[in-house]
Amino acid sequence: MSEYKIIFPSNLNYSCICCGACCQKWQIPISDEEAARFAQTDWHSSFGRAAMPEADLVRESVYENREEIKIEFKKQSYLNFESSLKYNLKMRSDKCCVFLKKDNLCHMHAEKEFDYKAFTCKSFPIKLLYLPDNVIQVNYSFFCPGVFGDGKPADNISEIEKLIACDNDRTVAGSRLEFVKGVEIEYSDMLEINHFISDFLFDKNNASHLNDINYKRDDDLWNNYGSALDFDKRISVSLYTVLFLSRLAAKLKQDDPMDYLNKFRGELGNKTVMKKLIEKCCEIYENSASKNFGHLILMAFISLHQVGRKELSGFKKGFTILLNMFKCSTKYGNFKSPQDGFNFSFKLHSLIKFDMQNPELSSLVEKFISHFIYRKRSFYSGGILKEYQYMTLFYALIKWYAKAYAVQRKDDAVKAEDIKKAVALIEKGYSNHSMLLNVLETSNNFDNIFNPLFENYSMIKAIVN
Ligand code: SF4
Ligand code: SF4
Repeated sequence: MSEYKIIFPSNLNYSCICCGACCQKWQIPISDEEAARFAQTDWHSSFGRAAMPEADLVRESVYENREEIKIEFKKQSYLNFESSLKYNLKMRSDKCCVFLKKDNLCHMHAEKEFDYKAFTCKSFPIKLLYLPDNVIQVNYSFFCPGVFGDGKPADNISEIEKLIACDNDRTVAGSRLEFVKGVEIEYSDMLEINHFISDFLFDKNNASHLNDINYKRDDDLWNNYGSALDFDKRISVSLYTVLFLSRLAAKLKQDDPMDYLNKFRGELGNKTVMKKLIEKCCEIYENSASKNFGHLILMAFISLHQVGRKELSGFKKGFTILLNMFKCSTKYGNFKSPQDGFNFSFKLHSLIKFDMQNPELSSLVEKFISHFIYRKRSFYSGGILKEYQYMTLFYALIKWYAKAYAVQRKDDAVKAEDIKKAVALIEKGYSNHSMLLNVLETSNNFDNIFNPLFENYSMIKAIVN
């Protein structure tokens, strides 16, 4: 029996469709020990026998030193741990791993079988998160199209135990996390917030937290509040709620630095007060929805535009998508630019013909967002509030990208395949610490853009004062 408690995502079915996407166009990190193991085989001869392309690349070795990921303008690391993996498998000129065969299968696997491979290759699309109290959370990368599939439930315990045994790059998350700058809470408090938000935000069929240890869903939140609202509203209300909680925690800390956490927990545990908070946030949304989404999308647009210009060569695809988004935006109407001088005429996010009433589409989006809430969060140094801000932005980007893919197909209606591609694009940027996070961080004004959205809300002032 495992010494860990393992949490599986309860709403995913997974099966590999052999698309080969995981073996190309990004770094495949390996450990010292794996590099030493691979160096014992004459891969050059093996590549020659199998007529693998660009076999000369592996004449000396199949790996190379790992490039440092440097993010311009970035002051803090994305993850509060450092990877011990110092090498990458070599890539061919087509940006595929040298071991990837024409049939999208792996030459190393064919020659040496599963156990020989690098942990990165064995585990993808699974990522194991080592949480406090010996809990391991099993996460899947939505970059992998097999994760949205019709395969088996993603809960194979013996497979996970096998992976745990050979995981050579594990880091256990600390038990304290930053909620908002200068205010920390415990991991268990974060879970309490996540559960509360998720019970409001997701129908239970789309929520991923239900296998969590000792967790019992509060269906009242969904039945009486969430289910009455469409997803645009729910996601905004969730962000407002977390924002208010962060302000509350900051205020309690200011008043009583020694005991603020207990007081904060007392508020969190009072479900009557918390439900009133949701009601208030719904009211706020009703009074200001178009303004908020206009700002949100304008911000996403401007940020992407800036990065598109800055990194045009490496971001050609993103830039093409950006242009398509622009075409979408002009097709459906104009966005009135805010007072601060942008001369753009964009389409409001909320007017995009994106049918979130269609359960097939909405459940894909909700599944992704629900996983976003539960994974990686514990490792992030940017703060819990910031993660909820990312969540909102990613939701907006899913809508934009999905629509852009539909337009590329010369189709007006977004289909499930568009959502999957949009999610994969965002996931790759997110998990690869590259484009999308770069967008958010280089814009360097994430807070500057978000904070004005909230500063005129009397409720924040009521809570803070
Ligand atoms: S990306 Fe997913 S579906 Fe495609 S080959 Fe890799 S594991 Fe299989
Ligand atoms: S070694 Fe095999 S599984 Fe790993 S990235 Fe290369 S082709 Fe894919």
